[in-house]
Amino acid sequence: MKKQILHPRILDKQAECMPRPLLEELQLARLKKTLEHCYRRVPFYQKKWDACHFHPEAIQSLDQLQKLPFTNKEDLRENYPFGLFALPMDQVVCLHSSTGTTGKPTVVAYSRNDLDHWSQLIARELAASGLQPGVIVQIAFGYGITTGGLGFHMGAERLGAAVLPTSNTLSPAQQLFDLKELNVGMLLCTPSFATTLQEEAEKSGMDLKELPVAGAIMGGEAWSLNLRERLEKDWSFKAYDTYGLSEVIGPGVAHECEYQKGHHIYEDHFIPEIVDFETGKPVQPGEYGELVLTSLTKEAMPVIRYRTRDRTRWLTGTCECGRTFKRMDRVVGRLDESVLLGKRRIYPSDIEHIVFRFNELSEYYQLVSDKEPMQRLKIIVESNRHQKEVEGPLQLNGLQKQVETSIRNELEVDQVEVNIVPKYTLPRSAGKAERLCFTKA
Ligand SMILES: [Zn+2]
Repeated sequence: MKKQILHPRILDKQAECMPRPLLEELQLARLKKTLEHCYRRVPFYQKKWDACHFHPEAIQSLDQLQKLPFTNKEDLRENYPFGLFALPMDQVVCLHSSTGTTGKPTVVAYSRNDLDHWSQLIARELAASGLQPGVIVQIAFGYGITTGGLGFHMGAERLGAAVLPTSNTLSPAQQLFDLKELNVGMLLCTPSFATTLQEEAEKSGMDLKELPVAGAIMGGEAWSLNLRERLEKDWSFKAYDTYGLSEVIGPGVAHECEYQKGHHIYEDHFIPEIVDFETGKPVQPGEYGELVLTSLTKEAMPVIRYRTRDRTRWLTGTCECGRTFKRMDRVVGRLDESVLLGKRRIYPSDIEHIVFRFNELSEYYQLVSDKEPMQRLKIIVESNRHQKEVEGPLQLNGLQKQVETSIRNELEVDQVEVNIVPKYTLPRSAGKAERLCFTKA
């Protein structure tokens, strides 16, 4: 069936193209309200702010926010489960929790107003990617205790699109069947799952270019521009990157517009900062640091100066779309998903960026770490060819050397070991890909 054309448009021009002075006035009013709410309702904040002699009534400008201490994941864990809630349970209508795979679990809460704001934010970002009423949207993010699937579901319904909630539990073959037979116009999933679907299509001889899907929204993990280029070419769709995290609200924090020049942060609902990972001081435009977010409208569990552990940088200049929100670059990695090589921190996307330039290699790679800090960078990457097609180690040696040289030169590291393995050697995932592999030293 013919591809539907998705016309990018701004859903809420009034909020998104507001002159900066007006926006900042709105932010200040919302910030004051949020800080007062936290001070009154959450002993954790009250204690911390009393210790630094801060009272919300004293706040006169947005800059003063920087005087407040940071909040981090550890604070959420220590106050598990309900210590950071700012509303009693009879005003909480929804809970989500993290799986606790990297430590103790965390739980977040939403009031009715929070859900209303959340679905509105997601409807705005879906509209920025061209989704509109009448288009079928297939949501293949996980539904359940994480925020991806349900958040997008509410936003797409609110926009008036026709939602097909396949989740990531439906088999890749069935997902492809639905995309084709139901004339789906937009697909939402992790980049890794798009790759898994692509492999399924290859196996069954399906040409992805013939699918009706014209747009995709992907997120939930850091992915490189090279991977986007590959996916856009193979699927013949436009793929937008989205950003959010459960602790702050879920998806709906920042999103790319039709020009795909970084993410506009929804500043009418969040105040963003980017700080140096070590010193906590603001970074200069262009310099990488850690994204820090303060929520401005959340009631059930506001977050103040929350350190996301996500690495990004400011982009300068204006965007042709007319939005006045600040723009950040794509998130290039999570601190929790990086490894130390000597004194240097290496993110999977640093590697992805390089290996994806080699057409002979597949989308699957892993950084292997035995101890931190590592002395030698070890990478396993899959060939695009199956076991039976690999012509033996000699043939791969040349390629292996080329990849090692590229990594050595571009990342300026001395010791690199690349191991090319046949296709389908590394694990596949319906959610995030496993880019890091820890082995015992
Ligand atoms: Zn824009």
